[in-house]
Amino acid sequence: MNNKIESHIKDLRKELEKHNYSYYIKDDAMISDYEFDVLLKKLSDLEGKYPQYFDENSPTQRVGGTVTKNFETVVHKNRMYSLDNSYSLDDLLDWEKRIKKIIEGPIEYTCELKYDGASINLTYEAGELIKAVTRGDGFQGDDVTINIKTIRSLPLKLRKPFLDSFEIRGEIILPLEGFHKMNEVRILVGEEVYANPRNTASGSLKLQDSTEVGKRPLDCLLYQVVVDKSKFTSHFDLLSEARDCGFKVPTAIFVAKNIDEVFDFVKEWDTKRIDLPFETDGVVIKVNSLRQQEELGYTAKAPRWAIAYKFKTEQQSTVLKEITYQVGRTGAITPVANLQAVQLGGTTVRRASLHNEDQIEKLDIRVGDTVFVEKGGEIIPKIVGVDLLQRPLNSVATIYAKRCPECKTELLRKEGDAKHYCPNEFGCPTQITGRIQHFISRKAMDIDGLGGETVDLLRKEGLIQSYADLYDLSVDQILPLERMAEKSAQNIVSGIKKSKAIPFEKVLFALGIRFVGETVAKKLAKYFKNIDSLMNASFEELVLVDEIGDKIAKSIVAYSNDYLNIELVNRLKVYGVQLELSAEILENQSDKLKGKIFVVSGVFHKMSRNELKKSIEDNAGKISSSISKKTTFIIAGDNMGPAKLEKANILGVSIISEDEFIAILKN
Ligand code: AMP
Ligand code: ZN
Repeated sequence: MNNKIESHIKDLRKELEKHNYSYYIKDDAMISDYEFDVLLKKLSDLEGKYPQYFDENSPTQRVGGTVTKNFETVVHKNRMYSLDNSYSLDDLLDWEKRIKKIIEGPIEYTCELKYDGASINLTYEAGELIKAVTRGDGFQGDDVTINIKTIRSLPLKLRKPFLDSFEIRGEIILPLEGFHKMNEVRILVGEEVYANPRNTASGSLKLQDSTEVGKRPLDCLLYQVVVDKSKFTSHFDLLSEARDCGFKVPTAIFVAKNIDEVFDFVKEWDTKRIDLPFETDGVVIKVNSLRQQEELGYTAKAPRWAIAYKFKTEQQSTVLKEITYQVGRTGAITPVANLQAVQLGGTTVRRASLHNEDQIEKLDIRVGDTVFVEKGGEIIPKIVGVDLLQRPLNSVATIYAKRCPECKTELLRKEGDAKHYCPNEFGCPTQITGRIQHFISRKAMDIDGLGGETVDLLRKEGLIQSYADLYDLSVDQILPLERMAEKSAQNIVSGIKKSKAIPFEKVLFALGIRFVGETVAKKLAKYFKNIDSLMNASFEELVLVDEIGDKIAKSIVAYSNDYLNIELVNRLKVYGVQLELSAEILENQSDKLKGKIFVVSGVFHKMSRNELKKSIEDNAGKISSSISKKTTFIIAGDNMGPAKLEKANILGVSIISEDEFIAILKN
């Protein structure tokens, strides 16, 4: 009987790994996410019931859940070397010459992309992952096995027998799509964005909470199997074999007969790399024969049998003609380099961002200088350096703008801010137009018929100075504007009128308070219910609100204390703009669930998942996506995720049904 259960558990694990493989490596799902979850739950249930069959490499272990305070240092069995670099065909030919002094006969080279992430050394024994260690200083690294196991594309068990015991090396990367998604979320919650995928990937390896690692869309690309070289013949065969065993070995690998073919591969990928789903900074070229590798051996730092070719980021030099300054909607100033036109990466470049005063000082950039421009991952090119040899004799150091280019107000720079800003919020034309444009935008007051250009025109004509002025506009006033037809003028006025029905949370966003984005506006509207309570709130009260930090709170207090804002808001009130939650919304709201944290899991019958979540929030409850000791209730629908169930049981969190939740609400 027990044998039957054991084999059932093992079959389930195999099946789940098979699906993981088709989903994450073959990119070809065979079952739906839902079906996968059902299988996983089945397995998790069985594992819970029969703990004697626990397996640390079971698919149920991929969700994380462990917190590591200190990662153990592990000495590498085989040192992890660095790679020598090359930058040109000549460099590659030199490398070949060095090699040919040591070995005789023909040499084949494998060409692979250089994956830009954090290197990892994996140890497998009897077909299972035993250990994952970071490169560290090459001699010893950190044991991050727990975190690595959450990477879905990495096989915890091999799909077929390979060697009894071996090490395999790869790069933990964060594909671009996932990286951008992570940043979108950070922007939404007002956090600083991650600078680049590489640092984010390597930072992820050392997170203390493996559940957090599990949430990041990390991937592991393999590039070397470390084995006894006498038993195998080529690097290419080893990688192919590893791929068959379930490892993610990219297919962009080529065996070249000579350096010319190597260089063809380099040139091909130098252009094709823009379309890759991940970042690469070059190509790694390796002598394919393992016997020849053995003969070549290592220098103090790197293998003699391999070399990296670094792609050039295209750079051009041109003359800086003038530095101008731009004002944004919030008054932030950006210095712009106006350049003599130059061709760069297929486009003509005339302008580059100089970011801020510190950047200009750091590079000592001056008008008249010959500067180097580069196109990085960003769309706007940047200046990376100055050709000092070409500096004109009469050159003078750049003095950063003292006054706003638009309104001539003296610029300020707050401590801790990299940028200067124009404090003339209510008089600076760009800021006025910018704020009104934000006010009428689709996600804010969504005013039909009124576009950004018309706003600017209305301001120039002296018809509007603030968004409140919009509500005083009449068709007669708008009609005389250039190219304005009767119909469009009427549309504008009726669009403005219609916006009086826009709900409070959107109005709050429309006001354009610094750091108050859509999500924050929603939170504030729900909490304070009307504009007066919000504007009367102190800093201390504000930071009590969920997800409102010091920065946002400070900005709201500053906004509320400015009498010009108070006046604007009072005018909006008079016009009938929604500055409080509607009665209907208020009726369905309460504080009943205050202090309670819910996790919602599964499928429900009486309400949709979103309705359920909304009613939690409407009644002052909090929703969390993962179970922790702080969770008050888990509302479980059908097919609740097995991982959640298991965690709930371990932490002793109460699980309630949809009906029980409704009963709590009614009470
Ligand atoms: P570097 O850190 O510049 O000395 O470059 C060496 C590192 O490149 C290695 O430690 C690997 O982590 C990484 N790397 C990325 N892709 C490959 C690849 N295809 N083959 C070998 N090493 C690679
Ligand atoms: Zn200004």
